[in-house]
Parts: sequence; structure tokens; C-alpha cells
Amino acid sequence: MYKVDPKHIIPALTGDALQEKLDEFSSNTVSDKLQVKFHKVIDYLNNKAAGKPPKATFNRIYGLIDKVMEETVYPYAMCQSGCAHCCKIPVSVSAIEAGYIHQVTGKKLIGKPVDDIGYCPFLDLDTAKCSIYEVRPIECRSFASMDSLEGCEDPTIKHMMFNARQNGMLLSFKKWTDFQSKAIAKKENLPAEEDIRFWFGS
Ligand code: SF4
Ligand code: SF4
Repeated sequence: MYKVDPKHIIPALTGDALQEKLDEFSSNTVSDKLQVKFHKVIDYLNNKAAGKPPKATFNRIYGLIDKVMEETVYPYAMCQSGCAHCCKIPVSVSAIEAGYIHQVTGKKLIGKPVDDIGYCPFLDLDTAKCSIYEVRPIECRSFASMDSLEGCEDPTIKHMMFNARQNGMLLSFKKWTDFQSKAIAKKENLPAEEDIRFWFGS
């Protein structure tokens, strides 16, 4: 199942090399162009999204998150295509995003706790790639390992992860989906956020 080509594996960083990279990463800021786009998306969410097709809203949110990750996180991260250890850990998905994934993929929404946390039901086990890459939730598209791939493979190794809560722009989108999901949860008697296997099975 594990598909990363060993030649492409970046050696784990430690000591000064890791510190140097993290210093560069923390002083990195998003471009002015992206700042402008971010404010346009926030304006859309606050003032125009109601009543519009979900695709229009999620294209804006996910598109902006991807650009922030490309500009500020991935150049410093260890992640690579075919690496899927992070698809075997709990993956929190908001109710509104679960509904959107269901709408786009047709995958049945189950809404039941699962005992066994195996690979995410959307991971293609032959290619080790995400089968819903375009609509994968915020938790997945904003997750990265900053120091080693081995740390993702072996949960006993302590290592440094990046997630949406560490970036103000990404956190704004988390807050928006949380807010919307709380309203859905109340109306539908569902949790506002749950593991992806709760929504879609294991
Ligand atoms: S977070 Fe870890 S397991 Fe996931 S793609 Fe990045 S390095 Fe691989
Ligand atoms: S949705 Fe895709 S990226 Fe996220 S855990 Fe599942 S397979 Fe991995």
C-alpha cells in the first residue's frame, strides 16, 4: 500500500537544520495578492454565500486554503504524493463538509461511531492517494509534517505537525464551517464535527 518512492524521501530534519527551516517557516508571510483574495472570500462567506450553491462556497474556501498551503507551508513540509499515514489517524470533519462530500461523491452518509480506526474510506489503497482530493475536508488539506515522514508512520515518534489552527486565515475557515455545522447539528440532531469514519464508515 505504501507508495512513496524511496528515492524521493527527504531525510528527517533535526538540530540546526530543523531549527533553521522552522525559523524561515515562521517568518514567512502570505503575499499581498493572497491577502486580498482572502478578504474577498471572507466577504463572500459573510454576505453572499447564503442561498448560493455549496460548490461556489467550497470552491472559494478550499481554493484559498490550497493557495495558503502552497505559499507558506508546503515549501517547508515533508509531505509528498503517495504518503498516506495521516489517512489512518482520526480525521475530524465538520457536518457541513460531510454533507458536501456526500453531495459531490454520492457516498452514503452513515453517522455511526466505528470501533476500528483503519484507513479513511476515501483512500485508494492501490495508489495510496485520496479519491476525493478536490473535495477533501479542511482537516486534510491543511495538515502537514514539518520535520519527518517517519514520525507520521510511527506514532511513538514525537514530531512537529502543522494544522489549520496554526494559521489565522485557515482558522477563519475552520470557524466558519464550525459555526455553520453547529446550526446543522442542532436541526438534524447530529454532531457538529466527527471523525470521517463516523460520517462514511470504515
Ligand atoms: S502528514 Fe505525514 S503522512 Fe501525511 S502526507 Fe505529510 S508526511 Fe505523509
Ligand atoms: S479524505 Fe482523503 S486525504 Fe483525507 S483522510 Fe481521507 S483519503 Fe486521506
